Amino acid sequence: MPDDFIRKSQAEREAANMPDLAIAREELGWDAFRSWLDYLPGGRLNIAYEAVDRHVVHGHGEREALRWLSKNGDRRSFTFAELKRETDRFARMLADRGFGKGTRAYSLLGRVPELYIAALGTLKAGGVFCPLYSAFGPEPVRSRLEIGEGEVLLVSPRTYTKKVAPARKRLPHLQLVLLTPCADQTPEGTVDLAQALGETPAEFECVATDPQDMALLHFTSGTTGKPKGAVHVHEAVIAHNATGRIALDLHPEDIYWCTADPGWVTGTSYGIIAPLCAGATMVIEEAEFDAERWYGLLEREQVTVWYTAPTAIRLLMRAGAELAKEHDLSRLRFLASVGEPLNAEAVQWSARVFGKPFHDNWWQTETGGIMIANYASMDVKPGSMGKPLPGVEAEIMEVGEDALAPVEGVMQPGHLALRAGWPSMFRTYLGEQERYEKTFQDGWYLTGDLAMRDADGYFWFVGRADDVIKSAGHLIGPFEVESALVEHPAVAEAAVIGMPDERVGEVVKAYVTLHHGHEPSEELRKQLIAHARKKLGAAIAPRQIEISDDLPRTRSGKIMRRLLKARELGLPEGDTSTLESTA
Ligand code: AMP
Repeated sequence: MPDDFIRKSQAEREAANMPDLAIAREELGWDAFRSWLDYLPGGRLNIAYEAVDRHVVHGHGEREALRWLSKNGDRRSFTFAELKRETDRFARMLADRGFGKGTRAYSLLGRVPELYIAALGTLKAGGVFCPLYSAFGPEPVRSRLEIGEGEVLLVSPRTYTKKVAPARKRLPHLQLVLLTPCADQTPEGTVDLAQALGETPAEFECVATDPQDMALLHFTSGTTGKPKGAVHVHEAVIAHNATGRIALDLHPEDIYWCTADPGWVTGTSYGIIAPLCAGATMVIEEAEFDAERWYGLLEREQVTVWYTAPTAIRLLMRAGAELAKEHDLSRLRFLASVGEPLNAEAVQWSARVFGKPFHDNWWQTETGGIMIANYASMDVKPGSMGKPLPGVEAEIMEVGEDALAPVEGVMQPGHLALRAGWPSMFRTYLGEQERYEKTFQDGWYLTGDLAMRDADGYFWFVGRADDVIKSAGHLIGPFEVESALVEHPAVAEAAVIGMPDERVGEVVKAYVTLHHGHEPSEELRKQLIAHARKKLGAAIAPRQIEISDDLPRTRSGKIMRRLLKARELGLPEGDTSTLESTA
């Protein structure tokens, strides 16, 4: 492991919100972080109040809160006062239609202002917000609406017609579909969002939710079964706010850009809530990745804090340092990354090209917020995820039959575990309490990741303990992909694995066996790829499909994805004693 630090200067340490991690770990914790928020009378807490209204109450209503850059070069800007007004209006519109406390409002919108207003407006109304990727295909959309019993949905007219309307009859909970942008005709059972808002006054008093009331629903993927709906409560804002300040070093004068889509938890916790809580200006870029465009944005908008992901960093590296050097990026002062392993080379590259290293941090949908990070005041060890946040206890564990034990020694791999009880901890998997409980043991939450810790207390990512796939930062459940494949009439069985890929980390590869009467052919293979893309959307569908005669399985009949992967990569096949078929 490379052990060369990228050192921080005394001036950098002193300018950071948290000048010294060791001292902060002694002096700060969740009680202190609670006191960084205003709360509502009677110990009530609402994420949207802390993110938006509070700044207006404190006289900062005229500061720029949100700066939106459209695909076509248009821009829109909202001050905190304007954002308060528009989120009040959205909340009132929901309330006037009989929605409020506990209402599940989903979004399938791209990164447009309406998505951000709806997220905060729903929270103000006491509802639960569930952002979905607009790139999801009809099946992932339907299953997530079904599991979460979505009642309200924001969607574009085109996406509605393509992905929701055909399944509408099977979604009995879905009562209000709000369309934006405005369509020539509103299909039956839908409402034009602009019209609905146009008829509604911007008058609403933020609902005084209990800190334990459900606020956010984020879908994630496991190895087996349906997508998991991780439930978060309003109290999560304690972590969003604290980590925004400590791990991303956000100051009110910052211009901050989080490149993540709110359909992924990062794009909500750190693409909506944390920067607004900090009173910073958040930039929202509607378009997808383009190296030239990104550098142009960083320069023109004078971004000071930038939070992105390893896939994007690798693409920037490929585009070359020259491109970066054509732009004046001198305003950038803090760079952070999350979502996949960030290799040491990428950190060193950014230190050379931008004059600052990327600060890797680690967390997941279930943790709701950053748990382990490289901080502004801390020397960076390239390739390491950093150290736990004040208030977070992380451990490398050996998992026994019925007990956990910390792994002895340094740089020894084990299961990354977190002591349960931080405020942004997920509260359940919706409708799957047993599955939720299984992730805890002896008061520790088992993250599903393998990691190790070095002699200086820095954590290093080793890999996943399960079969889920990480592609371009998206967690993909093999079961969801397999289920879509076996719906094709020719497919008998399917097994899906992640294949290492230099650019996006892993790409999805599927193996299928065919029903009697179907013959393997190139044409069928192409048909299967098209079938999967149509059902699942391009973000989840397999890039490669191989038609096999048989799949390896255990004696109990479970297909062994791990063995397929080992064979594909030419790795040792490990213990195959429980294997039945070795085709
Ligand atoms: P998600 O819930 O979609 O945010 O995915 C969380 C998973 O992404 C984690 O459990 C890790 O497997 C992976 N991950 C997140 N951050 C990092 C990181 N800094 N280094 C390596 N893997 C990461």
